[in-house]
Amino acid sequence: MPEGKTHLKIELFSALLLFPFVFYLAYAVKEIAQIEVISFCIGYLLGSLLLSPDMDLFKSDVIGRWSIFKYIWAPYCWLYNHRGVSHSWIFGSFTRFSYLILLLCPIVYFYPQILQYWREVISVFVGCWFANSLHLIADRHWKL
Ligand SMILES: [Zn+2]
Repeated sequence: MPEGKTHLKIELFSALLLFPFVFYLAYAVKEIAQIEVISFCIGYLLGSLLLSPDMDLFKSDVIGRWSIFKYIWAPYCWLYNHRGVSHSWIFGSFTRFSYLILLLCPIVYFYPQILQYWREVISVFVGCWFANSLHLIADRHWKL
């Protein structure tokens, strides 16, 4: 199993290959808006830097990047055992993303017009899921 820094290197190196490809895809397929591609890239970086599957370990690098806000993730760590649901292909990204959206509910309450950006939110989720999938592949196949 790779360490947190190795995961980050793999995911950021992959971004160098993935981002030009998705921008080209958006250029070639006119139905994909540039803002959705940018949202995807933001989601990918979010999934690599702040919403990794290792959020189930309170002493992980990814939790440390939340700095003074790391304590908002303590209930998430208590809910999920390391390499349990958080490392699931289907539910892992979904649980972290849902947890974050739940924390952001007060913002939606005061600024409901934010809900019109649901397509961008889905693109952010897909980007996050891509980064998290690379993490899971590395966890299963990395031998260093
Ligand atoms: Zn992991």
